[in-house]
Amino acid sequence: MRYGIIADIHSNLKAFEAVLADMESRGTISELWCLGDTVGYGPQPHECIELLRKYNHISVAGNHDWAATGQLDFSHFTTDAADAIRWTAGRMSPKDIDFLSNLPMSLEKVSFTLVHGSPRAPLREYLTSVHLAEQNLEHMKTPFCLIGHSHLPLVITFDEGGAASFSDLKPGVPVELGQGHLILNPGSVGQPRDNDPRASYAIYDSESAMFQNFRVQYDIRATQGKMAKAGLPERLITRLSYGA
Ligand code: ZN
Repeated sequence: MRYGIIADIHSNLKAFEAVLADMESRGTISELWCLGDTVGYGPQPHECIELLRKYNHISVAGNHDWAATGQLDFSHFTTDAADAIRWTAGRMSPKDIDFLSNLPMSLEKVSFTLVHGSPRAPLREYLTSVHLAEQNLEHMKTPFCLIGHSHLPLVITFDEGGAASFSDLKPGVPVELGQGHLILNPGSVGQPRDNDPRASYAIYDSESAMFQNFRVQYDIRATQGKMAKAGLPERLITRLSYGA
């Protein structure tokens, strides 16, 4: 079976559509695994939720999803992110809100745990250091964990003593899932932050036990035009050009 791993779509429908088209061009996908933050930042929250729901999928909640539904305090968000959340909240249907509100904070699927941020604090924690990764190891109930949140495509490996090391998840280079624990981030569909503006996602093939990242070009200007029209913050518009 092949699974499409997506995270941090962030209301960027153009990026999401491009990712789905690229994924489908590579063969049949049994299920989408979505790691949260379908909304926030971008111009098409309703459309992104609707498109996700058309697919056979499972999804966990992200901090922006729950900020937009009023379930999570976003007073610590940046001004731009908070402005986008308030805008998003006014653009969703009651069905959208119901969908996001009912997403679980974590999900277990075969040997994977799906969370947005980290196994220890699914909605809050950014796994950005070796130290934090090592602290999270004891919170992993499955060998593998899939995360989003930082928008950085990466793989965290652990040695037998539990020491973590980080490496970039490089597009087109498969990662073999072996015996040890692994934490994988497929990167962000709708707001990449690794200085590569292309949309990011991954495919997990359960037969070969391979996890592979892909980058996809999409019509960034179309998304930016919609954001400008919606009056979303300028910095959120320009950062899409740089993937930063
Ligand atoms: Zn995010």
